[in-house]
Amino acid sequence: MSSPQSILEHTFGYTEFRGPQREIIDTVMGGHDALVLMPTGGGKSLCYQIPALAREGCGVVISPLIALMQDQVEALCAAGVRAAFLNSSLPPERAQQIEQALLDGELDLLYLAPERLLQPRTLELLQRVQLSLFAIDEAHCVSQWGHDFRADYLHLNCLHEQFPSVPRIALTATADRRTRAEIAQRLDLADARHFVSSFDRPNIRYRIAQKDNPRRQLLDFIRSEQPGNSGIVYCLSRNKVENTADWLCQQGFKALPYHAGLPADLRAEHQRRFLREDGVIVVATIAFGMGIDKPDVRFVAHLDLPKSIEAYYQETGRAGRDGDPATALLLYGLEDVVKLGQMAANSDGSDEHRRQERNRLNAMLGLCEITTCRRQALLRYFAEELPEPCGNCDTCLEPPQTWDGTEAAAKLLSCVYRTGQRFGASHVIDVLRGSTSEKVLKFGHDQLSTYGIGSDRSTADWRGVVRQLVVRGYLEVNSEAFGALQLTEACRSLLRGEEKIQLRKLPSRSRQTESRTTN
Ligand code: ADP
Ligand code: ZN
Repeated sequence: MSSPQSILEHTFGYTEFRGPQREIIDTVMGGHDALVLMPTGGGKSLCYQIPALAREGCGVVISPLIALMQDQVEALCAAGVRAAFLNSSLPPERAQQIEQALLDGELDLLYLAPERLLQPRTLELLQRVQLSLFAIDEAHCVSQWGHDFRADYLHLNCLHEQFPSVPRIALTATADRRTRAEIAQRLDLADARHFVSSFDRPNIRYRIAQKDNPRRQLLDFIRSEQPGNSGIVYCLSRNKVENTADWLCQQGFKALPYHAGLPADLRAEHQRRFLREDGVIVVATIAFGMGIDKPDVRFVAHLDLPKSIEAYYQETGRAGRDGDPATALLLYGLEDVVKLGQMAANSDGSDEHRRQERNRLNAMLGLCEITTCRRQALLRYFAEELPEPCGNCDTCLEPPQTWDGTEAAAKLLSCVYRTGQRFGASHVIDVLRGSTSEKVLKFGHDQLSTYGIGSDRSTADWRGVVRQLVVRGYLEVNSEAFGALQLTEACRSLLRGEEKIQLRKLPSRSRQTESRTTN
């Protein structure tokens, strides 16, 4: 058996482990369980691929994404690793060959979709061979509160019972503390060592601006700051992708469209040109990016609001993987919010699911509106604390216009408290503004001391206050309690008047747009 270091060098062609890789690999090599939280692009795959190669037996990788599975296996085979996958896309003869190879001890890595793994037949097969480890990729799929929930993942705890001596490593790029605890509990990983990497990408400069004339804003940005650079421009719709790419070409750029509606060969061609040629700009829907590993992407521009902070982080994270300066520019308008809000409202799934989508969107919007460091807010969303403002985001570099929101914040927080922390933003704002809605009267909230104390502000203004307080951690939206606003520890000093708070001014135009659509 080779050592992890020599596998790193000879099989993967790298000289050094990155970040916590070495420690994670040592943990699994020692037969212990691990839970790995690492941002996308951080290098999770090696954390299980190397121990699978270095330990006796075959490593089993459970992954929900068939396309990604295929890519990984191809790359591994090209590097001389004996890897294969089993999923529903394979013809039965091929599946049988792979099963035989497994039985004959000829596989180092076997990728499986969870539903395949859980078939009694597969479990029996695995019982008959020596296994080096189980890697559970995208482990957050086990979380019922997450947007990627997969019921099959819940049954993966059987691995611990059926294969007690095989180490397990669960990996994810998206998990706050609560989700992490949930993963550990549901996957029976009580004794696993946790490895939590920083999500910070210090070389990415975050910039978020209100849409004014988005094409002009994009053009100015590329011409003045990114001439000749490779970049990705994200749009929400296929139509807009094509129009924007055409338009950029007319402006003299090498711009290529990419979305799921284009023929596969054209998509592959555009992807290849992006990877090989200099200065290509891909204009894409979110279909572009998964598994694309181009180190020198200098900018990612969003012409539409991403639907969540996770999505924003993931998409912007494709910039600057080489560590050199890169910029993430997001242009947003309240019309995006309306559109995404409607998409969330009309999406399939339970009420709970829709409410979650809405909450995620609100968090994203909060990030757009804050007046403090973007990076601090972004990292806080991933339960990470950055002690000082970063100095490399727009709000750090050009502090925005603000107003003293201390009194407004205190009114809002008191009203949340007085109404029992059981109501969502709309109702709390109704009480503040002295509404005579049926709901206000039914709960007797017109009798509260906070009733009507905020009638000087519009509903839209109050929503801005709510969102900013949520983003800064003074308020929480409890998605398990119908989006009820709840106070956090942090808000005490605001309530006592011991702390001042500056809020971002909303441009007057978006104020109108918003009050029209949220009432
Ligand atoms: P993740 O699964 O966390 O998104 P990957 O495992 O796909 O990330 O790794 C992202 C990129 O980083 C890949 O191109 C991978 O080859 C590269 N990489 C991983 N570990 C190292 C390392 N130790 N040295 C250099 N490159 C690495
Ligand atoms: Zn900053």
